Amino acid sequence: MNTSFTLPTAGLKPSATLAINEQCNRLLADGKDVIKLGFGQSPFPVPTSVVKALSENAHQKDYLPVKGLYALREAVAAYYRRQYELSCAPEQVLIGPGSKELLFLIQLIYDGDLILPQPSWVSYAPQAQLASKRHHWLPTYQEDGYLLNPETLRAHCVRYSSRKQILLLNFPSNPTGSSFDESQLGALAEVAKAHEVLVISDEIYGDTHHHGQHQTIAKFYPEGTVISSGLSKWCGAGGWRLGTFLFPASLRALLDQMAVVASETFTSTSAPIQYAAIKAFEGGPEIAQYLQHSRAVLGRVGNKVHGMLKEKNINCPEPVGGFYLMPDFSAYQSHLNQRGIYTSSELCTTLLEETGVALLPLSDFGMPSDFLGARLSYVDFDGGLALQKIAEDPSANAEELAPKVVQGIQRLTNWLMSR
Ligand code: PMP
Ligand code: GLU
Repeated sequence: MNTSFTLPTAGLKPSATLAINEQCNRLLADGKDVIKLGFGQSPFPVPTSVVKALSENAHQKDYLPVKGLYALREAVAAYYRRQYELSCAPEQVLIGPGSKELLFLIQLIYDGDLILPQPSWVSYAPQAQLASKRHHWLPTYQEDGYLLNPETLRAHCVRYSSRKQILLLNFPSNPTGSSFDESQLGALAEVAKAHEVLVISDEIYGDTHHHGQHQTIAKFYPEGTVISSGLSKWCGAGGWRLGTFLFPASLRALLDQMAVVASETFTSTSAPIQYAAIKAFEGGPEIAQYLQHSRAVLGRVGNKVHGMLKEKNINCPEPVGGFYLMPDFSAYQSHLNQRGIYTSSELCTTLLEETGVALLPLSDFGMPSDFLGARLSYVDFDGGLALQKIAEDPSANAEELAPKVVQGIQRLTNWLMSR
């Protein structure tokens, strides 16, 4: 049998996030002492009422409609009306087996070049390649917290005015942990609108904003924004695989086309999970408390890690949402070079080998390979215990909430200072 493959997978490797998770799990199984700050998975358990809804719906065995269970689409639309005062109907919602799949489908179907701020999450660019789409990295700057600047976007749109453009924005950001405020979103929306850029707004970390202050760009550009989200982050349910897209009413044809591809590929999202997700999107006091406590934990741990890094002259944007930080080790460049480390990939490999601390190289997020930075996921702690602790003692510190993460940062900084 001829075992060679053809494009478009040429040059692609297994996704970095999933690969580091599997590598760390193998090392742990071999008895190695590993601190998992590489993979980005919510440390928190799924809220009890949502787990209960799932077990009550385990018997749901029928295939559901391709676009999603209507009652869930209704609950998602109601969530967006309640949370962000968007005017939207269930018919504008598409449910998928994880937002990652929906992000791929939209790239496959919607014509145009993809604009990615540099750095961006690991999977957008490979998905563009799989969809045979051109993508452009736009530079961001340290002084802007590595968030896309509207003037950079404007210059790009002017330069490529003859081509249709899609902007993939993600905030709070994976990998930086920073996010836009309302005025920054308004300014970006103005440019996108003026140049008729479709905005795919990946707001999957929105509800993990540490101060509960996430705002959507759809508020400023409703007719041109598709909001991507799901259960994986704020609800701790990454392995449940449920993602949501909210389309503008004017882009119903795009939703319909994505559903055509869905109908020929994944068919529909798991039925019990969809029933349980209704409970999650309906909200209520238990979910509100879960969010309040998980945000407090993430804020506390994120700030502690940020402080520990800054103390050692490791620059990184202040975390305001999600569970990531983007440390830049450039201040140690000559020291690292002396140790034979010239790229972020070499940095992460050596760090894991010598200390057991796993991080992901920023080259996987579109940064130049010699930019000596990494993505750090501060999630290696028992989220259930941390929620309990913060409920009992709202001033619990990061050492109590996430001892292994703090230990990991100490190991990392000691390693950096050594020799
Ligand atoms: N966007 C970002 C920025 C992510 O970090 C992830 C990882 N979970 C996803 C999208 C995909 O999430 P899911 O497929 O679990 O909905
Ligand atoms: N989004 C997570 C991360 O960035 C992992 C899940 C995935 O990549 O699908 O680490």
